[in-house]
Amino acid sequence: MKLTNYNKIISANWKMNGSLSLIDEFKRFFTKNYENLNNDIAVIICPPATYLYKFNEVIKNYNNIFIGAQDCSNKENSARTGDISASILKDIGCEYVIIGHSERRNHYNEDSDLIFEKIDCALKNNLKIIFCIGENEDEKEKLKTFEIIENQIKNIFSSACTPLNTIIAYEPIWAIGSGKTPKVDEIETINDFIKKKLKSKYNDNFSNNYKIIYGGSVNTNNYKEILLSKKIDGVLVGGSSLIIDDFSKIVNFNKY
Ligand code: PEP
Repeated sequence: MKLTNYNKIISANWKMNGSLSLIDEFKRFFTKNYENLNNDIAVIICPPATYLYKFNEVIKNYNNIFIGAQDCSNKENSARTGDISASILKDIGCEYVIIGHSERRNHYNEDSDLIFEKIDCALKNNLKIIFCIGENEDEKEKLKTFEIIENQIKNIFSSACTPLNTIIAYEPIWAIGSGKTPKVDEIETINDFIKKKLKSKYNDNFSNNYKIIYGGSVNTNNYKEILLSKKIDGVLVGGSSLIIDDFSKIVNFNKY
């Protein structure tokens, strides 16, 4: 199914966490519950790179569950010790890669040029991207949220991005791992703004089809309200994706 046809996208970013036994817990969950998962919901699990191959064995027979990497190199295969290329990720069954996560921007000084190159490499190797954007606390307090988001879209968004290969994750940096979240109507306003900017950048109606998901302290107290919004196409979940009981509630948001 095309990315644009999914009703909701529920993605998990394990960051530098997880274990073989957590993969087993997910395996048991999917084996037991797959039949009941709506097939218009895409589930994308992004474990550390070392676990991707093993996780792919778990999900490869499920149509709407995918694995994604948390990062990729900005270069094609070459002498770059420790790096992982988009083509290697594709080779082991990855469908998605997160690019531009604020933790990579902050801890590894990833700038707009580098992020642009990574997007380019990922898309050339037929990976789809989850492209993260969002303001930090200081920018929010200075009322610069819209300006920051507009610049991130203008400077980093590649002309190779389309609604068929790119998910946009609005992740306010102050909300990541903090337990704080914007109100649902604030997320909706941002999503409307992103759609408007993409439409004017590409000057076409197809841009309306971009999936715009929300990330930042999604948990068992707030997932329902966020996911039931018609203007929010899904979630990117960090901490709560490491607890299978919590993540299963989020995946089944429309059932209980
Ligand atoms: C994230 O890492 O993208 C994230 C949203 O983390 P958390 O859910 O833990 O805030």
